[in-house]
Amino acid sequence: MEISRRGFLKMSGAIGSGAALSTLGLDLTALKAHAAGLTKMDRLRTASQATSICCYCSVGCGLICSTDKLTGKIINVEGDPDHPISEGSLCAKGAGIFGLSEVNDKRLRKVLYRAPKSDRWEEKNWDWTLKRIARLVKDSRDKNFITRNDKGQLVNRLESIGHYGTSNILSEECWTLVVALRAMGLVYIDHQARI
Ligand code: SF4
Repeated sequence: MEISRRGFLKMSGAIGSGAALSTLGLDLTALKAHAAGLTKMDRLRTASQATSICCYCSVGCGLICSTDKLTGKIINVEGDPDHPISEGSLCAKGAGIFGLSEVNDKRLRKVLYRAPKSDRWEEKNWDWTLKRIARLVKDSRDKNFITRNDKGQLVNRLESIGHYGTSNILSEECWTLVVALRAMGLVYIDHQARI
């Protein structure tokens, strides 16, 4: 490619934007990523910072949440090096917590239901959803209460439903939940913090 002196000077002026380099066929991906990194560092330097705790398990690792002062929106979450327990480290769940914030526009915000054998999702409200869950639990209990004890009596055991608990709830809430699940006959009850 031949470039005239005039063209070269013009192009040099535009080098800051990267537009000229890309016309030469240079791959600017790394340069753009570096520029984006610098922009993020600048935004972080001027952001408001607040400490918090990872909600996922009882380790309770420390987080630093940065909020853009101009927009009021969260722009970063990372481990808190001053936290006495985690000292800045986070496991994969904690490290991905930023993806749960409003910045992720793919988060589920409404109930989506796909009927058996259907290939499309339907939007439902919570009233419909809770009734549907209650109906299915009742049907499952009616149909699957089949275990009998030594005396031939039907026992309260429901093996067709499992429950996987969240660590976003407190010990007291966990206790209440387990009591309710056991009362319904569930035996397969687990909790994500165990993993
Ligand atoms: S889920 Fe991971 S990051 Fe969160 S508190 Fe537990 S160990 Fe820490």
